[in-house]
Amino acid sequence: MILCECGEIIKDRTFKDYIKTSANPSTCTIGHQKCGFIFDFFDGKKPKKYSSRTELKCLAVCFAKKNKLEQNNIGKFLVEVDRLKSSGTLSDYDILLGAYIKLNEVQFV
Ligand SMILES: [Zn+2]
Repeated sequence: MILCECGEIIKDRTFKDYIKTSANPSTCTIGHQKCGFIFDFFDGKKPKKYSSRTELKCLAVCFAKKNKLEQNNIGKFLVEVDRLKSSGTLSDYDILLGAYIKLNEVQFV
C-alpha cells in the first residue's frame, strides 16, 4: 500500500514505467494512473513534508475524502492523525498512512 503525492492511497491503479536512477538509466517503477505521479523507490524520494498542525488537519480531511472514509471513521482518523502528530518526529506521509492503517486494523478486528 502506497500513499501517493496527490494524497490518495494506491492499491491497484498503477502503471509501469521506467525512470533514470543513480543505479540504472532505466529502472522499472510504477506510477499512479489517476494523477500521473511516478514513484522513485530507488533513490527514495518519498514525500517528506512536515506540515504545521493546522495544515496537517486540512491534508487529513482531504485525504479522508479522497480515500472515501466513512463519516464516522473520519473523526477517528483525525484523532489518530493528531495523536501521531503529537509524538513529534513523523512526516506527513508517515502520519497519514499510519493513521489509515490503524483505522483499518480497528475495523477488521
Ligand atoms: Zn496520485
